[in-house]
Amino acid sequence: MSQLKIAVICIGDELLKGFTVNTNLTDIGSELLQLGLIINNASVIPDTTEMIQNSTTNMVDSGMDVIILTGGLGPTVDDLTKETIAELFKLKLIMSEKVVATLKLYWNNRNRSMPEAVLDQALIPEGAEILPNDVGTAPGLLIHASDHHPRLPAIILLPGPPSEMNPMFKNYVIPYLSTLKGYDKLFTNTIYTTGLPESIIEEKTLPLIKNSIFSIAYCASPEAVKVYISSSDRDQLNSKTDELRERLGEFALHQGITDSIQAVVNYCKQHDLTLSVAESCTGGLIAAAITDIPGASQIFKGGVVSYSNEWKNQILHVSEETINKFGAVSYECAEEMVTNLCNYYKTDLGISITGIAGPAGGTPEKPVGLIYIGAKLNDKIVIKQFNLSGDRNRVRQRTVYAAANLLKTLFL
Ligand code: AMP
Ligand code: MG
Repeated sequence: MSQLKIAVICIGDELLKGFTVNTNLTDIGSELLQLGLIINNASVIPDTTEMIQNSTTNMVDSGMDVIILTGGLGPTVDDLTKETIAELFKLKLIMSEKVVATLKLYWNNRNRSMPEAVLDQALIPEGAEILPNDVGTAPGLLIHASDHHPRLPAIILLPGPPSEMNPMFKNYVIPYLSTLKGYDKLFTNTIYTTGLPESIIEEKTLPLIKNSIFSIAYCASPEAVKVYISSSDRDQLNSKTDELRERLGEFALHQGITDSIQAVVNYCKQHDLTLSVAESCTGGLIAAAITDIPGASQIFKGGVVSYSNEWKNQILHVSEETINKFGAVSYECAEEMVTNLCNYYKTDLGISITGIAGPAGGTPEKPVGLIYIGAKLNDKIVIKQFNLSGDRNRVRQRTVYAAANLLKTLFL
């Protein structure tokens, strides 16, 4: 057996001009992964007849079983996908009374008369199956091209707007793909890890999957190092994933948790603990990451963005002597910040941040990327110096997760 070969073609000038992030590709990829399928080939092309024809023909010629096109199904002149595909496969366009009725209802419900151009959306290539659009007007189309020639794949046309494409894909394309039998599957599990660099994670895990039916890949980002394990056997994959989790111990985040901020919030909820934060160079990013999580109000009391020395002193009562003697970016300042914070907010846990995110402000003694993080859990306090690399944005992002990781070490 072989894998079902799936190609995705994303159509839209805006994707190539950098106006729009191509989320359709990643959304389709992650949905397929849950079915044990992967995208074999993908391209991003402009709204031109020539490129739609060339790209589709290339995918047909390279032996794809299913070709999914997104975008260009709207009613305006730049929407060419359906007409171009109909022409390529020599299919007549026929007015679907069913779609006309749906369009009329849509416009009636909005108390507007329907523009003539909208009727183009009711023209359907002969023999195509209509995929209902439960959110907008352009229907999706499933063309069983193999009805016309045994070697031709199924062609699926989907609208570009993610709010329309995503439910259509989940509700109508996934069920269709699930009916295709006789193909190998490839399942992938992800383990999210924190607190160790990628190379050490690899060192710990790789020996467990050497010369086996599993493949493994690693991906590092500020919030976690992700370990992807794949196999065609779902049960064996699940038990291997458990084994790898065990090997990684405390560095593997619990199932369903994808970064250390979530892990901290979860721990606080489970142990009925409260949390506050005092941020300088992260400017509220930690508070934002915590409050991104639904239910954070159960455990999060609040925070201070004490950016200036004056307000480190006024609000957090970091002594002038500490600031003058050691500087605001110092072990001592981070310690006073976190201690006074927890007293002020009356919380069990606290995080303090003081550092230099750059690009300016660094000195030979205190370079850009130097960050002191304080973490406190009742009477346990830890202050740690970090030297983080990257631009301002990356240093700030990495600080957020480094802080949560440091706090996590106090749970052990
Ligand atoms: P269309 O179906 O081509 O009229 O698409 C309309 C809108 O959908 C575009 O303006 C984009 O904002 C959005 N869109 C189209 N393709 C994509 C894509 N691949 N990823 C994310 N958004 C998209
Ligand atoms: Mg478009």
